[in-house]
Order: sequence, then structure tokens, then C-alpha cells
Amino acid sequence: MAFARTIDGDIDPAKLGAVDAHEHLIRTGGGEILVDGEDMRLIDVDKAITEARSYQVSAREFLDVDGTIVDMCPIDCGRDVEKLRAISAAVPGLNIIVTTGFQKSHMYQEESTHWISRYSVDQIAELVIADIEVGVDVNDYSGPFVERSAAKAGVIKIATSYGVMTDLERKLIEACAAASVETGCPINTHTQHGTLALDQVKLLTSYGVKPEKIAVGHVQRNPDPYELGKVTETGAYLMLDGTYRLKYLPDSSRVQLLRSLTDAGYGSQLLLGTDSGKKSYQKVYGAATGVDYDMTVFGPRLLHEGFSETEVRGYYVDNAREFFTFAA
Ligand SMILES: [Zn+2]
Repeated sequence: MAFARTIDGDIDPAKLGAVDAHEHLIRTGGGEILVDGEDMRLIDVDKAITEARSYQVSAREFLDVDGTIVDMCPIDCGRDVEKLRAISAAVPGLNIIVTTGFQKSHMYQEESTHWISRYSVDQIAELVIADIEVGVDVNDYSGPFVERSAAKAGVIKIATSYGVMTDLERKLIEACAAASVETGCPINTHTQHGTLALDQVKLLTSYGVKPEKIAVGHVQRNPDPYELGKVTETGAYLMLDGTYRLKYLPDSSRVQLLRSLTDAGYGSQLLLGTDSGKKSYQKVYGAATGVDYDMTVFGPRLLHEGFSETEVRGYYVDNAREFFTFAA
């Protein structure tokens, strides 16, 4: 039977409801904090519960369904499955999906001595598969002792750098592709500013991953309908996140990109998330916006700008239901 894998177990994908397809509730440490600063550290469970609850409440108000938050923190990047379980337990009706897989290589700091460099592709794939099929390591594969949570991962992250795929990223992608083929788990990617979107799909599919189990992320940073159309032509999904990031682009760019890709016939291959992965992107830390942004501001704006209810429900509910379902 078809299922999506949440932190509290496998569920009928129809129960995912409104999905925030790329989000961050917790990041306890790791290379991203060293690279991008303390703003990236999200360690407070009570604050995360408040953000998560606001998403669940606003999903019910806006689309009359429960919410799902996909926490995209990957292996050894401050992922904390037990904190995420506590958040899930505190917000009735909300689903959380935990990630396995990897960030781009330089987030692993002195990467030449990290186990991702020492272990073989098969060994790395084995660890990713165990996160998905047995339970996520509560120690986040940050040390030699592995202790598995009852919670399993429901999505795999892969990542590439700005305009370049490092040798280590290629190796991690090969391992994650093998894990996806073995388990049916969908792959939600990180591109840097939208670069290498099609290259990611080509590499993953060359290892046998089904294009419809790939969502290429952060593509709103390259709002080029022609280039992105090449990605959707393969059958892969696009994930637009990064709402209200006005230092990069106005939200109108995201609106126009959704309109042009939908008019080109790719409306069923689009996913949305906010990627509010910094204190300065969350209301509980004093920011103007938070995890509920799509349900309270951006989704209603789409309706106001003439998108149909079917289109809007498609992006948040129907497309995400298909994508996060494990392949048979
Ligand atoms: Zn992110």
C-alpha cells in the first residue's frame, strides 16, 4: 500500500495535507553554523513548537487540512531526531518528515578526514538506508556509536555547490541514489542559487532514480522558465522555497515563476516551502515572517493574484502527496 514516512510512522499520503516541502525547525550544530553563523542555530524546542503549531493552525485555516513540515536538516549537520519527535508530539495533527542524506561537501569542514571521505559509496548508502528503514541515528552519525531512534527518515537530501559538483558531492549523490533505488524514498535536493538543477537530475537518474522521485530545490533563485522547463521535461519536480528573501528577489518573482511553469503544463510538478532555517526567518526569534508564511501570506496572495483554488491546493497538497509517497 502506498505510504509516506513521517517521524511517527508510515501514513496514507492523503493524510499529509498541506506540505511545507523544505523547512527547518531544529539545527543544533554543524558546519552550516560555522559557515553561515549563529543565526543558523535552532536549538530551542519550545520555540520550534510555537512555529510548528502556527503552521498547523494556519494550514487548517487556509486549506482545511492538517499540515506537514519537512525538516531538511541532513546527516551530521545538527540534525536532532529526538527534538523533532518532541515537537511532533506537542502539535496534534501535524506531521513531520525527517531527512537523511547530505549537505554540500564544504559544510563538512575539514572534509578530507570526515567519514564521508573515508567510507565507500556502499558503506555510505548502507547508513542512509538504515536511517530510512531502521531508524535515524540519535547521534546524527556524528560519532562512532550509533543508536537508532524509533523514527525513520522519509526523504533524502543531496546537494551541490555553486555551479560546481565536487567529487565528494558526486560520491554522496551516488550513495543517496542507491539508497533511494533500494527503499523508494524520494530525494529533495539543494542547489546553490539554482545552479546545476538539470545536472542533478541527470546524475541521479543515471543511477536509476525515478525522475518523479526527485525534487530540485531552491530553484526560485534562478527564475528562468526555459531552464527550469528542461528539468520538468524529465518528469522531476521543482521545489520553490525562500519566501520573503527580498535581499535576493521579490516574492513576485516566485508568483510569476509559478504562473509561467503552470501555464507551460508543469503545474503538477511544483512544490513549495519557506526554508525558514535561520532565527532571522522565524517569528519566535523576533522576525517579521515565520514557518507559517506560505499558509498565511503567500498562498492567499496566489488566490488574490488570480490563481485558482485547484492550482493552489495542487502546489501545497496534491503535488506533495504524490512526491512524498515512497516508490513501489
Ligand atoms: Zn534549507
